[in-house]
Amino acid sequence: MSARDIQRVRHDLRFRTLTVAAVQDLTPSLRRVVLEGPELDGFVSLGFDDHVKIFPAAEGEAAVLPTLGPDGPIFPEPRPAMRDYTPRAFDPTTNRLTLDFVTGHGGPATEWAMAARPGATLGVGGPRGSFVVPTDYADHVLIGDETALPAIARRLEELPPQARAHAVIEVGTFADRIALDSPARATVTWAMRDGAPRGESQALLKAAETALAGVDPTDAYVWIAAEATAAKALRARALDLGFSPKAMKAAGYWRLDTAGGEKISLD
Ligand SMILES: Cc1cc2nc3c(=O)[nH]c(=O)nc-3n(C[C@H](O)[C@H](O)[C@H](O)COP(=O)(O)OP(=O)(O)OC[C@H]3O[C@@H](n4cnc5c(N)ncnc54)[C@H](O)[C@@H]3O)c2cc1C
Repeated sequence: MSARDIQRVRHDLRFRTLTVAAVQDLTPSLRRVVLEGPELDGFVSLGFDDHVKIFPAAEGEAAVLPTLGPDGPIFPEPRPAMRDYTPRAFDPTTNRLTLDFVTGHGGPATEWAMAARPGATLGVGGPRGSFVVPTDYADHVLIGDETALPAIARRLEELPPQARAHAVIEVGTFADRIALDSPARATVTWAMRDGAPRGESQALLKAAETALAGVDPTDAYVWIAAEATAAKALRARALDLGFSPKAMKAAGYWRLDTAGGEKISLD
């Protein structure tokens, strides 16, 4: 295995019922929910873009979770809604897991986060695996909309001082920006939609093109996550500019006018 190989690490699948410890609005469009509970013993998240499945119950209802059978998860009927979220942070000393929810649209996950209060419960499954990307590329280009912000913030915190990081993040307005810390030499570009609806703006593509054009594609890792059509266009542009598909990961984190819950293919 070369130092540049990406490691895929599998984890035992577990479903956990967690309790809300704290809720904080980071911006008008991003709500942080800190979850805690003894069931977080053994929680592992090795990759900055890992995800957990959350099972958001309607307000006042108990969390409903699948059980683990010999052939995998067994889902109750009717099948509960489930959505993917990035473990923004996990502290094993306090058993606290932080998730950041983009708000401002309808949907069971967003509605759960808007109603979340300390003491409420949330069912959480996974992560099932981690995708561990080496940190020793000269340049790391991190491109995404606000749903990618938890993963981008986490990666920026994890990169070493000798790395150069270029984060390009689409948000609605200046008020939707958050402070981002990194030991790396990091440049952060905020691409503003300036009134255009989410998923219908060219702001991220334009800002990402400028950032990519300034990076040597031979020693760079490119990570992209955004609305599915936007992510596909961003990936195509990065390939056009000479970035290697072997050092690139692009994902649709949601799809315009489509309720989520399943992984979105970019093909
Ligand atoms: C690996 C992975 C990690 C993710 N991590 C995070 C994370 O940490 N934080 C986070 O907020 N999201 C994250 N997402 C995205 C999140 O799973 C989706 O946005 C999901 O659809 C939200 O569920 P919902 O119940 O709120 O809305 P849904 O019921 O799925 O959708 C309802 C409606 O809202 C629209 N919609 C969905 N998301 C958005 C959005 N962001 N903006 C505008 N309209 C939207 C849909 O098109 C649909 O019309 C991640 C996705 C993946 C695949």
